[in-house]
Amino acid sequence: MALKAGVVSGEDYNQLVNACKEGGYALAAVNCVGTDSVNAVMEAAANNKSDVIIQFSNGGAQFYAGQGMEDSFQAKVLGAVSAAQHVHLLAEHYGICVVLHTDHANRKLVPWVDALIDHSEAHYKATGRPLYTSHMLDLSEEDIDDNLSECARVLSRMAKIDMSLEIELGITGGEEDGVGHEIDADADNSHLYTQPEDVLKAYELLSPIGHFSVAASFGNVHGVYKPGNVQLRPEILRNSQALVSESHDTKQNPLNLVFHGGSGSEKSKIAEALTYGVFKMNIDTDTQFAFSEAAGKYMDDNAKAFKYQIDPDDGTPYKKQYDPRKLLRAGEQGFIARLDEAFSDLGCVGKSLAG
Ligand SMILES: [Zn+2]
Repeated sequence: MALKAGVVSGEDYNQLVNACKEGGYALAAVNCVGTDSVNAVMEAAANNKSDVIIQFSNGGAQFYAGQGMEDSFQAKVLGAVSAAQHVHLLAEHYGICVVLHTDHANRKLVPWVDALIDHSEAHYKATGRPLYTSHMLDLSEEDIDDNLSECARVLSRMAKIDMSLEIELGITGGEEDGVGHEIDADADNSHLYTQPEDVLKAYELLSPIGHFSVAASFGNVHGVYKPGNVQLRPEILRNSQALVSESHDTKQNPLNLVFHGGSGSEKSKIAEALTYGVFKMNIDTDTQFAFSEAAGKYMDDNAKAFKYQIDPDDGTPYKKQYDPRKLLRAGEQGFIARLDEAFSDLGCVGKSLAG
């Protein structure tokens, strides 16, 4: 069934996730930091007739509110609210479905997520829909029982207002906005891989409460590093799905899986992961570079306009070149081109459910 274009939540979100898993494709979840990146994501999604996930890290949300805001906690909350309102207003006009999500929140950032749920509760009261579709809690550094009991508490709040929770089991290597783990090349890296038994535990605790997804670690790493001793092992995803479906006699791929740290991954490993119920792949590092590379090229090509308002030799005015919109648009176009590639890797081109 077709969905209304715009921000989706609740049963519509569930339908979107199931369409991905049944269709063997995934949605790109793109980290954004301002209106330029948000609009570029919606433009790329519209061009590709694909639905998409727009997400904010705590640092991205803070940047949205402005680096000059004195109270950084308030900036992280209000920036995320402001960004969501921007997307609610515009998404339907791009004619695609958008999932609104926040990225990694460790124990220190749980109050940020709780504050955003307060805002979603108020939005739900006013409109019948939450402000955000989902949030992520990343308590993977903690003991599995502590991790899951906090996830259960937060999901209990969210389920009442049609929200979904993404949890992390096992550890995604690398670092993202101060949340993360350095890779130690000499260490035993088995903790980087999610244990299927932990996934089963999560399923049994959380599925009676509400809708959730799992960021499982199978050797994925944030950022792009030289190939090291961490091997991508997508079969961990398959084994987790199999353990849950055998234990509870469910249909195939009962879990909603999320692929973090996909930047720089081999295309064949991405394709394999998609067959194991991955419906969301995060992209940040590669789109950051694409934006900066294109903006940098624009500056190189117009070097004089970034030094002089008027050419000191021949008097040529450079206003048209140094207009910040030109630089930002060049960055957006690089960002959009990289997303075209991501959408194609994820098989989501032409698959929008918006009707
Ligand atoms: Zn991540």
